[in-house]
Amino acid sequence: MPILRNIGLLATCRAAGAQGEIHAIAKAALVWRAGVVLWAGRERDLPRGYHALSAMDAGKRLVIPGLVDCHTHLVFGGWRFPEFSQRLLGRSYLEIARAGGGLLSTAAATRGATASALVNRAHGFLRALALQGVTCVEIKSGYGLLPEAEMKILKVIRELAARQPLRLVPTFLAHAVPAEYRQRRGAYLRLLVEEMLPAVARGKLADFCDVFMEKGAFTRGEAGRILAAAGRLGLGLKLHADQLSSGGGAELAGALGAASADHLEYVSAQGIRALKRAGTVAALLPLPCLHLGLQPPPARRFIEAGVPVAVASDFNPGTNPACHLPYALALAVPLLRMTPAEVLKGATIHAARALRRDHVLGSLEPGKSADFSILEAESPEEWLLGFRENSCAATTIAGRRVTPGGT
Ligand SMILES: [Zn+2]
Repeated sequence: MPILRNIGLLATCRAAGAQGEIHAIAKAALVWRAGVVLWAGRERDLPRGYHALSAMDAGKRLVIPGLVDCHTHLVFGGWRFPEFSQRLLGRSYLEIARAGGGLLSTAAATRGATASALVNRAHGFLRALALQGVTCVEIKSGYGLLPEAEMKILKVIRELAARQPLRLVPTFLAHAVPAEYRQRRGAYLRLLVEEMLPAVARGKLADFCDVFMEKGAFTRGEAGRILAAAGRLGLGLKLHADQLSSGGGAELAGALGAASADHLEYVSAQGIRALKRAGTVAALLPLPCLHLGLQPPPARRFIEAGVPVAVASDFNPGTNPACHLPYALALAVPLLRMTPAEVLKGATIHAARALRRDHVLGSLEPGKSADFSILEAESPEEWLLGFRENSCAATTIAGRRVTPGGT
């Protein structure tokens, strides 16, 4: 039964209360057994029986639940750095795609890479996230498009889960219609619904199904059909919704009871109400929003409406090539007009809820997993406003320290 003592501020991030209510305890201690939290509270209230336990010292620093990155595309081949400058110089996404760039160029590079090359590369990204204090990462497929390549990506995620300590949540993403099916959209939809999704469910290769619903990707009708099929197969649902245009994505996510609707730059008032009714998390992604020059999603309107807001990195080669969740969180403060405490809750308990893991992850309270990070800061404000490349002193998963050192 280990104990973490001398915590300057313990942000427990319990779900109850407002987005900015992180249920912080000053001068705190944390006790766990077999990887599960037994007790969290003021150190001076520590029950007698716990005093003699083996203790770690937090050095009066800030301790938070392990960060949860609930939206990444972390397994991919190649990079697309030149596209960022091309976009800044005025070329449109469509022009870039026609010239051989865009999503289909990542699909080509990902199909061309061996599974072991993809594993090795993604392993390095996960290691970087662990060093930042991240303990759970959602990873989407979606750069294979054709059945064999999609299965390859999902199997790479499964191998990564076995090889390194971070908790991984795999998602099957219907990202776009591949070039091979451009003239046969209906056939690709049938392939998705009748073959690919059942194979994913049979192989237990994903926990969620996500769809990129947007002009140039999938329509609302198509997204509804794909997600309904995924729901029947027992997969949780997510949606890339209302990112570049207002297309009724949030309304669809709410109607289907999705775990999260992601992006939401162009969400409608009706869409916000639909998310609230369904208890769907609004997962906001500051970095692609900035890189694409979009209007920011209306975080304050979600919060005022009582929609839980998560914040994630959306690490991917085309619209955010920075594998750095705290960087996204730091930018969320000025871009989304969210307080550091609101952002912290967005990257812990609300991000866990977006992955349907909030019963075990995302907060430090009895019964939850002892996943926590010690930060070189006294408060969430110092951590995010005084942003540094890395403020994380130690990352612990199920009570076991994984950085620095460890596996
Ligand atoms: Zn995405």
